Amino acid sequence: MVIAVDGPGGVGKSTVANRVAEAVGLPHLDTGSTYRAAGLVALRSGTPLDDGTAVLAAIESVDIQIVEGTVTIDGVDVTQALRTDEVTKASSAVAIHPDVRSRIVALQRSWVEDHGGSAVVEGRDIGTVVFPDAPVKIYLTARPEVRAARRSGDAEAGNKSTEQIAAELAARDHTDSSRKASPLRPADDADIIDTSDLSIDEVVRVVLELVEVTGDRRQATGSS
Ligand code: C5P
Repeated sequence: MVIAVDGPGGVGKSTVANRVAEAVGLPHLDTGSTYRAAGLVALRSGTPLDDGTAVLAAIESVDIQIVEGTVTIDGVDVTQALRTDEVTKASSAVAIHPDVRSRIVALQRSWVEDHGGSAVVEGRDIGTVVFPDAPVKIYLTARPEVRAARRSGDAEAGNKSTEQIAAELAARDHTDSSRKASPLRPADDADIIDTSDLSIDEVVRVVLELVEVTGDRRQATGSS
């Protein structure tokens, strides 16, 4: 089964999704890395980020693979290169194009298929668009100042001020929630967890309880 974990940046999605995946013994797909790979391809090929057709052509001309958290483009490991500020901004810019999204969503779905059809999948539109039938849908939120403070602890934050990080998160939230194609929003049937005042352990525990309840319910109703 697919466990969808959605939410904006800085809510602890990756950490939670990783821990949940480990606990339930499922592979973990960070779909943000697929849009980051698309952004990197566009940057490296000099493709204008606002030209959806050209960005699609650029990503179709390369081979993007994700193997156990390592991302490669045409066989070259780009996992670290995906974490720069430039790529973060580019990923959000290319993610607004519907054709680019369709291509990237196809890649995400076939990744899950190739891993036996069950995974913890984290992103922005997993419960709404990529796996709308996922039996477990989690949407993580946190107050903006809490998200900025968490991000400032990440290695990739460098020596930016918390205010600068907050402004960048707010700008990305705006792009992600206001785009027409698959905007960031909770699925109607998602469980929303405000992680502001919870530790990672507590969030993981809540998610695992939801997974367990869903598993019991599916067993009782005989769904696969
Ligand atoms: O999660 P991460 O910060 O790595 O995502 C980078 C960008 O990729 C996001 O700001 C968003 O624009 C895009 N994204 C998306 N849909 C997803 C995952 C990420 O549009 N499912």
